[in-house]
Amino acid sequence: MDQEDNCLICEADLKYEDECSRMICSLCGEEYESKITCVDGHYICNKCYFLSANDLIKRICVESELENPLEMAINIMKNQRIAMHGPQHHFMVPAVLLSSYYNLKNDLAMKEEKIKVAQERAVNVLGGFCGFYGDCGAAVGTGIFISLVTDASPLSSYEWKLSNLMTARSLFSLAHIGGPRCCKRTTIMSIQSASLFAVEYLGIKFPGSNNIKCDFSSLNNECLFRVCPFYSENN
Ligand SMILES: [Zn+2]
Ligand SMILES: [Zn+2]
Repeated sequence: MDQEDNCLICEADLKYEDECSRMICSLCGEEYESKITCVDGHYICNKCYFLSANDLIKRICVESELENPLEMAINIMKNQRIAMHGPQHHFMVPAVLLSSYYNLKNDLAMKEEKIKVAQERAVNVLGGFCGFYGDCGAAVGTGIFISLVTDASPLSSYEWKLSNLMTARSLFSLAHIGGPRCCKRTTIMSIQSASLFAVEYLGIKFPGSNNIKCDFSSLNNECLFRVCPFYSENN
């Protein structure tokens, strides 16, 4: 961990001990000698520290015990490794939904397996999909989530319907706000659409996050400000 950075997991400040001691990496579970943890006790090994954005999202979502996908996504988006905009959000959306879903179901083996497949699928959803293909990648991410939890394929019937309906619902809500794109707004709204959908079609209720206030406005040159449902004057 670098001296200037904050904790990759919780964004808390880092603290430095005088002596090395055995520590367990909060992301991979391996043991190493180190002097650095965050004030909340997280230690991240060097291997995990230098992961790509998508591999970092995967590790965090596999390890997370949260059952609230919005809380998980907002924590990840605050991470300094995650750009303001970019296709890593296309993987983040199904990753946090799958993690929360399998945490609620207490099926940790399935959680890891499905998150890996989501990552393979999401890399095909390139940056700029929203404006160039008329298909926001965060919305596609909700379709990937439903496809994976229902085991949909191009040949399935009801599962095919649910997967496409999910993406349609997300896109419908995003489209009405209009552009320019904001990967924070579309990620939050897509997860909200998926949470409603999960109650309706999967019988799963994720813990909610009410009154979401965006902390990213000052980083976004194209922020819609008051037009955005998450804009907060205080940021
Ligand atoms: Zn921490
Ligand atoms: Zn590690």
